[in-house]
Amino acid sequence: MSKILIVEDEAAIADLEKDYLELSGFEVKVVNDGKTGLEKAMTTDYDLVILDLMLPGVDGFEICRQVRAEKNTPIIMVSAKKDDIDKIRGLGLGADDYMTKPFSPSELVARVKAHLARYERLTGSAMEENKIIEIRGLKIDTTARRVWVNGEEKTFTTKEFDLLTFLASHPNHVYTKDELFSEIWDMESIGDIATVTVHIKKIREKIEFDTSKPQYIETIWGVGYRFKV
Ligand code: CA
Repeated sequence: MSKILIVEDEAAIADLEKDYLELSGFEVKVVNDGKTGLEKAMTTDYDLVILDLMLPGVDGFEICRQVRAEKNTPIIMVSAKKDDIDKIRGLGLGADDYMTKPFSPSELVARVKAHLARYERLTGSAMEENKIIEIRGLKIDTTARRVWVNGEEKTFTTKEFDLLTFLASHPNHVYTKDELFSEIWDMESIGDIATVTVHIKKIREKIEFDTSKPQYIETIWGVGYRFKV
């Protein structure tokens, strides 16, 4: 049974989310303040976190940032303000999805299921041998979701990792931003291709020696990107 953490200070919303998720067979833990939320998210292995943005104590921005620095757990961020959603998307904090309140609980359940299925598919079964991609100084363990650049391990957000792995798995193939967006962000209702540009920039900062002369992810002007081998 998948375990879900809800960090939400509005009790009525938290209860509604909890009820719907439990009815769908999930085990749900609710916490009402940011400090406890951060502590729970860091110390307990949840399969997914639903994170409110405005919280007493520590806010959702900070929780997302700290969790993402350590873990790949899918994070769905929720906020009452659409402006805040735009802001957090722009910051590239590494949340996997964003929802504006009020939303229908059934939509939340659908998104939770989609993210869990996706995460499971990407992490694969522990019984299989780890699948490794090695290209020059870059090593990607796609099973353990770890990346090394010239022997030094680098931390990637879920989407950055997915995007890098997708490109590296299809070397010398040129993809448009639209193609990459629909491949990695499979919820067509949110986000746009600018998200792809932001993530490519973040990935380059981590894997390239000189981001102005990328040796891995090449920009094909007017078309998109290609992973060079
Ligand atoms: Ca709140």
